[in-house]
Amino acid sequence: MIGEARSCLPPAHQHPSLAEAYRRLLAAYGPQGWWPGDGPWEVMVGAVLTQHTAWRNVERALFNLKADGPLTPERLRTLSCEELAERLRPAGTFRVKAARLQALLSWCARWDDDLDRMAHASPEALREELLAVPGIGPETADAILLYALGIPYFVVDAYARRIFGRLGLGPAGGTYAVYQAWLHHELPASAEEHGEYHALLVHHAKVACRTVPRCAGCCLLPLCPTGQQGAGGARPRSASARMEAARIGMEREEQPVP
Ligand code: SF4
Repeated sequence: MIGEARSCLPPAHQHPSLAEAYRRLLAAYGPQGWWPGDGPWEVMVGAVLTQHTAWRNVERALFNLKADGPLTPERLRTLSCEELAERLRPAGTFRVKAARLQALLSWCARWDDDLDRMAHASPEALREELLAVPGIGPETADAILLYALGIPYFVVDAYARRIFGRLGLGPAGGTYAVYQAWLHHELPASAEEHGEYHALLVHHAKVACRTVPRCAGCCLLPLCPTGQQGAGGARPRSASARMEAARIGMEREEQPVP
């Protein structure tokens, strides 16, 4: 599924506002074809490397990793932690990321690097295992499950919470788990749609719904109370929305995903 152009329309049972936002984003930007990467192993590695850095830095590290051979778990496991760290230097915190990558590779080895077996395991159990790998948090685990293994877990990143919060949707101030449970309840369990929706949200957050939003001409403006109320959308509509926007904005403006 990696890199495929997807144009799935939401089924009728979807939350009407979520469905309408999805339709509008897809119409405005087209299918995003995420996750960029050459196969599921590159997606897994990229999901670790993209923590707390911009994607352009990840691309440089991926280039280094692929310079002397294919990006397979077998080959990566032949590299020492120091050798791995040196290649990951452009992605920042490279020693930490090298250790995290080695931990993820060890976990993959316990599955005999069998992606098909992983993809057909119990999703809940697999996610628990991933979360037990040092340095793998919910966002990284869900990116691996969704984009590498095709298992429908919504990646609830800061961009998603920012946009849904400004649209007045979702559990304001909720934890990652609460937000994800809401999305899983409201959206069909489709990896294709989860992936496309998440990718569209990231793109929208970069080009329009930034920390200070650019609401003029925004494709979601007809649905968005924040944009309609905020004279161009510069101000969230309530004290709680302002706190939420500030919190999300502080978390990171530069999202650690492509
Ligand atoms: S109208 Fe403004 S606040 Fe609302 S989604 Fe668009 S850019 Fe974001």
